[in-house]
Amino acid sequence: MIRIQQVKLPIEHSEDDLRDKAAELLKVTKEQIKSLSIFRKSIDARKKDDIMFIYALDVELYNDIKISKRNNNISVVEPFIYEIEVSGEKLINKRPVIVGSGPAGLFCALLLAEKGYNPIVIERGKKVKDRIKDIEKFWKDGTLNESSNIQFGEGGAGTFSDGKLNTLIKDRSKRGKRVLEEFVEAGAPSEILYVNKPHIGTDLLRDVIVNIRKKVIDLGGTFRFEECVTDICAKDDNLYRIITENDIIDTDILVLAIGHSARDTFEMLNKKVKIEPKPFAIGVRIEHPQSMIDEGQYGELAGHPNLGPADYKFVHKCKNGRSVYSFCMCPGGMVTGSSSEKGGVVTNGMSFYDRDLENANSAVVVTVNPQDFGGDDALAGIEFQRKLEQKAFEIGGCNYRAPVQLYKDFVDKKASNSFGNIYPTYRPGSTFANLWDCLPDFVCESLVEGISAFGTWLKGFDRPDSVLTGVETRTSSPVRIVREEDMQSNIKGIYPCGEGSGYAGGIMSAAIDGLKVAEFIIKTYKPMEKIN
Ligand code: FAD
Repeated sequence: MIRIQQVKLPIEHSEDDLRDKAAELLKVTKEQIKSLSIFRKSIDARKKDDIMFIYALDVELYNDIKISKRNNNISVVEPFIYEIEVSGEKLINKRPVIVGSGPAGLFCALLLAEKGYNPIVIERGKKVKDRIKDIEKFWKDGTLNESSNIQFGEGGAGTFSDGKLNTLIKDRSKRGKRVLEEFVEAGAPSEILYVNKPHIGTDLLRDVIVNIRKKVIDLGGTFRFEECVTDICAKDDNLYRIITENDIIDTDILVLAIGHSARDTFEMLNKKVKIEPKPFAIGVRIEHPQSMIDEGQYGELAGHPNLGPADYKFVHKCKNGRSVYSFCMCPGGMVTGSSSEKGGVVTNGMSFYDRDLENANSAVVVTVNPQDFGGDDALAGIEFQRKLEQKAFEIGGCNYRAPVQLYKDFVDKKASNSFGNIYPTYRPGSTFANLWDCLPDFVCESLVEGISAFGTWLKGFDRPDSVLTGVETRTSSPVRIVREEDMQSNIKGIYPCGEGSGYAGGIMSAAIDGLKVAEFIIKTYKPMEKIN
């Protein structure tokens, strides 16, 4: 197959134009092209009056042609298929158990099920259809269900998200490709296979997750919802049993794909396995009109249907040495109440596939390190997060309304008393407050400086009536469950996995880590069906 990189076309073009361009670059006729597919598609908006699509195209020809060595953008590539051989020899007598049905647990379960290991997935939260009701109730009247919320339940933390699927991981192993293909098979739009910044949206993702669960079950896996794993039992540093709130399960293999918010589980684990604190980031959600972001990024072409809603990504190094950056940007989305613990306010963001709501939002966050946590304990970062969330709850009115402030008032350290032209989308609601009262001063100072810097790159980002909602604390895990080279913790048989264990950040990297852990299990153990 021939890959042609850097194929530039105007934003209005037809499928035929792609074929014409490929034929021109390969110096063949259109009729010699047997097949053409898009490998990658991105937008080049550096020149606002000349925005282009940049493609990488995969082309098959009827006849072999010699590739010109003079064109570095044309090369021959071999299709790479993700294929894992079962090579483990060690016998297991019990079914492997995976805790958590987020992307890490789900993809680990899928690969293990495919290879005949009949995994059991235990999830403390509810199935998607029941989880939706609990979350809607929380957003409506502030009734929080600590087992079924934005963080806990089928599909994990990302089910109610923008469903962004980009990752910084280099995909040499093609695990990322495998994840995207699986999403498409489960109902996601096929464009996610090639667009530069793929996203699914919470509406489509909810069905995709359920379809993957059904596939795992068809392949021999089992899901147990509304059941929390509360303890683990080991002898001579080898796992032999786990305890749930209503059962005792004997197993030699436990994949801990618990996400970053299972604080009670971390407390239990901290007494048994090696856990260390790790840096993460805290800050606020910021909201602007999506039309302003579109204009800033696309100029006069803002709103063009082929471009879709624009996004942004900014980083600024502050005078105090901290990094402040935009994170988890949701074009045309909403800010979501994402608490999982009573008495704490947590923000995050989500959007639907069409990303057609009025406001754009993103987290603007500042890096924090274990030295900031105010304690040496492995779980000090969790306590640090908790205190900020509780403070936000308090100043928001103790009813899960989030504290909000206009950027101009945030700069002046005073509570706002009216909105400008931007209204917050946070549910269950918001209360005017001074965010300096719930975030450390160094974070607020960094945010003021960062937002002002971002305003020099995108006009209006630092407009006085930008709405800030606090607090954004669950950006990534504040702990890492130490995993050795064999992917196991100090207790053998326990495989820390995904974001909560500190080995991923985001849907894609968590899913990829799930595959990676499954591969190690497959390389070590014989599948159940081969026993006897
Ligand atoms: P999780 O998805 O957190 O899953 C862990 C699961 O384990 C949970 O369902 C939990 O209930 C369960 N669990 C925990 N403890 C126990 C226990 N003791 N017993 C049983 N079950 C347990 N990332 C992106 O890449 N793109 C986005 O657009 C995006 N948007 C987001 C929006 C929101 C609102 C949120 C909250 C997160 C978003 N993220 C996004 C982050 C992303 O969701 C996470 O990085 C990802 O879900 C981590 O996957 P995971 O499988 O490691 O853990």
